[in-house]
Amino acid sequence: MMMCKEATRLMSLRQDRPLSFQERLSLRLHLAMCGACRECNRQFTLLHEAGRRFGPEDSDEPPA
Ligand SMILES: [Zn+2]
Repeated sequence: MMMCKEATRLMSLRQDRPLSFQERLSLRLHLAMCGACRECNRQFTLLHEAGRRFGPEDSDEPPA
């Protein structure tokens, strides 16, 4: 199973570039099992949404 450290890394990485299918899958699986990382992911998503509002340049990553 993926470690929280790895999950957090992917969440952070996702701000910079779209994740690969495998990365997204790993992250999703981890989030399904780990409440702490779900909360962390929520924070990242909020930050990401805020950034989207201010920066027109963004990835074309589909919503999770
Ligand atoms: Zn975790």
